[in-house]
Amino acid sequence: MSAILEVGPFVFDAAHFLPSYKGVCRRLHGHTYAVTVRVRGEVRGSMVMDARALRELVKKVITEYDHKLLVRQGMGTAIREALRGVGVEVEIVELPEDPTVEVLAKDIANKLAQQLPPHLSLEVCVREGFGAAATIVARL
Ligand SMILES: [Zn+2]
Repeated sequence: MSAILEVGPFVFDAAHFLPSYKGVCRRLHGHTYAVTVRVRGEVRGSMVMDARALRELVKKVITEYDHKLLVRQGMGTAIREALRGVGVEVEIVELPEDPTVEVLAKDIANKLAQQLPPHLSLEVCVREGFGAAATIVARL
């Protein structure tokens, strides 16, 4: 028998901007993100996996983004130095592409996949405020 174990939503706040986007999302702004994670797999010993362990793992991963500025790879150093010059404290997370909700969901999924048992499949849904969400499905 297989089953799906779901944990979340887990909430964090972060700022971002989308330099490649032709619209208001080019501007620096923030979101409250909500992350829900599902793992699917065979039930072994009455569980897909320990829900408490999965919750702790997700919390640890999303803490890496909380109250930080999400930017595209390669932009972090210049932004950090510019903001430091005007007295703004900032912690930056660089993502491989513009930090859209899809890219963020994929980044979270990749970090979780490295730490989950290989017999499970994984879904990571990230909600960006009330307006958009992306779900990444990954096979471990
Ligand atoms: Zn946004």
